[in-house]
Amino acid sequence: MKTIIGLEAHIPINLVDTKLFCGCSLPDENAQPNTFTCPTCLSMPGSKPVVNKKVIEFALRLAIALNSEIQNQIIFSRKNYFYPDLPSGYQRTQYEIPLGKGGFVILNSRKKVRLRRVHIEEDPGALIHKGAYCLVDYNRSGIPLVEIVTEPDLESPEEAREFLNKLITTVNYLGIHDSQKGTIRADANISIEGNNRVEIKNITGFKEIESALFYEIARQKQELGEGKVIHQHTRGWDTNKQTTFFQRGKETEIDYSYITESDLVPIEITKELIEKVKKDIPELAHEKVQRYIKQFKLNKEDAETIASEFLLADLFEKVSKKIDPILAAKWLRRELIRVVEYNKLNLHDLEIDETHLIELLELIDKKQITERIGQKIMELLVEKPFSPKEYVKQQGIKVVSEDKELEILCKEAIEQSKKAVDDYKSGNEKALFFLSGAVMKKTKGQADIKKVNEILKKLLK
Ligand code: ADP
Ligand code: MG
Ligand code: ZN
Repeated sequence: MKTIIGLEAHIPINLVDTKLFCGCSLPDENAQPNTFTCPTCLSMPGSKPVVNKKVIEFALRLAIALNSEIQNQIIFSRKNYFYPDLPSGYQRTQYEIPLGKGGFVILNSRKKVRLRRVHIEEDPGALIHKGAYCLVDYNRSGIPLVEIVTEPDLESPEEAREFLNKLITTVNYLGIHDSQKGTIRADANISIEGNNRVEIKNITGFKEIESALFYEIARQKQELGEGKVIHQHTRGWDTNKQTTFFQRGKETEIDYSYITESDLVPIEITKELIEKVKKDIPELAHEKVQRYIKQFKLNKEDAETIASEFLLADLFEKVSKKIDPILAAKWLRRELIRVVEYNKLNLHDLEIDETHLIELLELIDKKQITERIGQKIMELLVEKPFSPKEYVKQQGIKVVSEDKELEILCKEAIEQSKKAVDDYKSGNEKALFFLSGAVMKKTKGQADIKKVNEILKKLLK
């Protein structure tokens, strides 16, 4: 049973100075409710919107980067619906003609995910439910969003996650979206081939999107397995329960009765503007992968992993100015990411400083510390910044070779496992497995097992 998924992703364009149609700044994280508002983003009678040109340029960057066909005029429409977070009773969006038509994103498997459209719209306010009350915060009202609608080309939650990841990386590279200031939201359409589709509205954050997809696919398969029919309908996502729930059926689908926004004149997208914007587009992830392979001789996996994270690529490029890029790639991709993932952290949360990484890698490169100590220092660096050089001095870490260090660990293992040693000495060869296992554990599986066995045998003679 093939799964079919199409996404409508909304990304805040939050690296502009002001909102989409007014002069309000974008609210910061700790803003008091309703402090970043004005008559325009509150839709007071008589207020008039004025388009923020920077948003148009930023959205153009994205549409171009996504290989969309740029339309030569921007027209906004009013999407009418009645909701307390929408003081005007309509959302300004693009309807008949989007900024960009078509386009695509290529996944690591080379699979092409086709896009239907890329358009600009305004964010509504936010509802805050508190017990019996519902409060409205209009700080978010009028924050520019770019909506990206895919064709139903995605076939699994993992693919959807990779797609969204690539999208986020692209907007990070383009300098138009800061993931710490705002999160991606999406509507997900899901069907099991040959059956009706279900739309899950307004899921926040891409881990949640993936979870919602997993849940909904299992739910639909279960229903079909019981011989039930899936009717086209809309569902919501409950983050606490991690389940989707019925919202409304197809029959009651809202009629948005779009009309052109008469307060705004059409905006021409000239060839000159497109050329100017193209010049602002920096090197993107897929280009970085190619360059890392060519220029630094990285392997494809290292290049792809590093380029797929804006912050990681930034660190790598800084570090590789001073350190052999292959060594830098290995340590950033395998060790840094290992520690970050183990601690369930996000690269964004780290205060990691490239000068400290450079020091650490220099110590490793010059064989002044062993890889194992290097790994320990990396674990500490993820917790808080410090100078690895100073640390090594303070701790009196001796310059020992890998072999010497292994020997110390083998001696430790022998002292700690008297029984295994006795067994081995009385002819039970298998007891050696226990000892070498203990050593491997101490090295977190990093040592060469043959070498460990050799040293153990030598010591036990
Ligand atoms: P609507 O007009 O109801 O919004 P669209 O045809 O514009 O519907 O499609 C909305 C989203 O649904 C798109 O992302 C599209 O890829 C996706 N979609 C379309 N058909 C299917 C399907 N059979 N299964 C899953 N998703 C689908
Ligand atoms: Mg839709
Ligand atoms: Zn405003």
